[in-house]
Formats: sequence, structure tokens, C-alpha cells
Amino acid sequence: MKIGFIGLGNMGAPMAANLAAAGHEVTGFDLAAPCPEGVARADSAADAAKDADVVLTMLPNGDILRAVAADIIPVMSKGAVFLDCSTVDVESARAVAEDAASADLLAVDAPVSGGIGGASAGTLTFMAGGTEDGFAKVAPLFDIMGQKAVHCGASGAGQAAKICNNMILGITMIGTCEAFALADKLGLDRQKMFDVVSTSSGYSWVMNAYCPAPGVGPQSPADNGYKPGFASELMLKDLRLSQQAAETADADTPLGQHAADLYAQFVEDEGGEGTDFSAMLPRFEKRGRD
Ligand code: NAD
Repeated sequence: MKIGFIGLGNMGAPMAANLAAAGHEVTGFDLAAPCPEGVARADSAADAAKDADVVLTMLPNGDILRAVAADIIPVMSKGAVFLDCSTVDVESARAVAEDAASADLLAVDAPVSGGIGGASAGTLTFMAGGTEDGFAKVAPLFDIMGQKAVHCGASGAGQAAKICNNMILGITMIGTCEAFALADKLGLDRQKMFDVVSTSSGYSWVMNAYCPAPGVGPQSPADNGYKPGFASELMLKDLRLSQQAAETADADTPLGQHAADLYAQFVEDEGGEGTDFSAMLPRFEKRGRD
């Protein structure tokens, strides 16, 4: 396939490189980042998108996605797929898909989980929204860049799945960290706490697979000085998207809101930026009730 790839940052560059290595003809554009090996450089987003069968975007947020979409939709070939893999708000995903459909394009929103490691290794999980036709056309690309792709429903459903999952993840991380900090103060050994909770009703992916306590459970960012992993500021971004969506949909999400507030405090006022999102544990460790 001829693929235009816009946004060659931490995630986009390895994803584009994997598509090129699999034999696709990839033309890339980024305002700042260089093109990875095997990817030809275009002078603009529109140049990268022209004549492409699929244009893949991997951009920081919904406003930037909307701006890039306005540039490229008019020049894309009819029947081509606009595949956005960024994490953005549901409304932007739906607005871009509508504009694409009006221009006789197929649109798929397919945010990813798996981080930079998954992008490099080609083991991302894609959660996709859009038509059956659009999903079928890009499924072979998901196979190259990832290990699993779930078609979640109509446009925006991929973004909805991503932010709901990450809202659970953020809330669970905070709950697990505050429980560890309480256990410390009650004199409970962390290994014993893990042994009990990981096999009792408090178990979770956070506790069992990504334990925030160093030296306990399987290897995780806690064992590497809380180097990300999944950075706290990215968790904050996703929690804010979940609350933006909850407001639009009139959904009551008190714990999601509280998790967003706590990560905002951690990232913006307490030096949490650049640390893994499990560094909530050392944060709670240092605190009392005031
Ligand atoms: P990044 O900041 O490293 O990359 C974004 C790139 O977009 C940058 O290179 C930037 O120069 C480029 N860009 C910005 N505006 C542009 C424009 N108008 N035209 C062309 N290029 C433009 O971010 P990232 O970590 O690669 O993340 C990309 C997306 O993936 C985000 O939406 C993020 O939330 C999501 N995501 C990231 C991770 C992760 O672990 N990093 C995990 C899952 C999802």
C-alpha cells in the first residue's frame, strides 16, 4: 500500500518504520521530528497524503488532529482511509470522521495501548471505531504494527474504549498505591500485602502485573526508579479526556474526576512529570492525612 504517515514522534516513528520494513511505501511528515529509516520525507502533510491508500496520523491532541485533517482531507484520493491512531477527545474523532465521510473517504479512529515499547516491537493493541469497510482495509496494517485489534463500533468508539479503560487504570493505580501506603503505616510487610491482595478480591492488572512497590511482584517501572513506562502526564491527559467526554455525555464519574485532580496535582505541582504513573506510591508514602 501507499501510506502517508503524519506525526513521527515517539510512537509514530517506530510504527512508520515497521510499516516500511514490511514492504509498504511510506511517505512521512512531521513539523519537527526526522523520518525514520525506510520512510520518504514529504514537504507538507498534504504532500504525504496525496495519492495515498491510507493516511495514518499519530498526533498530540484533538485540535492538532482537526487542523491536519482540514489540510489533508481535500487532497486525499476518494476511497482512501483516514486512520487516526492518536489519543484524542471523542468529539474530535467524530468530527474528523464526518468530514472524511463527506469527502468520500473512509475514517477509522484507532488509538493504541502498549506504549513506545509496543510501538517498536509491533505489539500494540488497537481499539478501533469506524465502518466495517474502513476497518477491513486497515486490518493488515494493524497486524504489522500490533498484536491485537478490536473493532469497537462506529466512529469515536475506539477513543471511547481507550479513555474508559484508562479511567479504570488511573483509579485502580491510585487505589492500589494508597492501600500500600496505608499497609506500610499499619506495619504490614509489602511482600505479604502483595501475596494476599494479588490472590484475593483486591487483585488487578496494576497489582498483579505492574506492581507499584519496588522489589515486589513482577518487574515493573517501580523496579527502575519509576522511569516510564507510562508517564504520569500521559495518564493525566487520558483522565482529562475521560472527564471531558463524561461532561458531554452527562455521565456521573466522581472517581474519574478525583483521579484526574490527583494526577494534575502530582504532575503540575509536585514534580511528578516524567515519572511513571505508578510513582503515586512514593507520593502517598510521604503524606499524612492533611
Ligand atoms: P510525540 O509528542 O512524541 O509525537 C507527536 C509528533 O507530532 C511530534 O513529533 C510533533 O512534532 C508532531 N506534530 C505536532 N503537530 C504536527 C503537525 N501539525 N503536523 C505534523 N506533525 C505534527 O507523542 P507520542 O508519544 O508519539 O504520542 C502520539 C499520540 O499517541 C498521542 O496522542 C498520545 O496520547 C498517544 N499515545 C502515546 C503513548 C506513549 O506511551 N507515548 C501511548 C499510547 C498512546
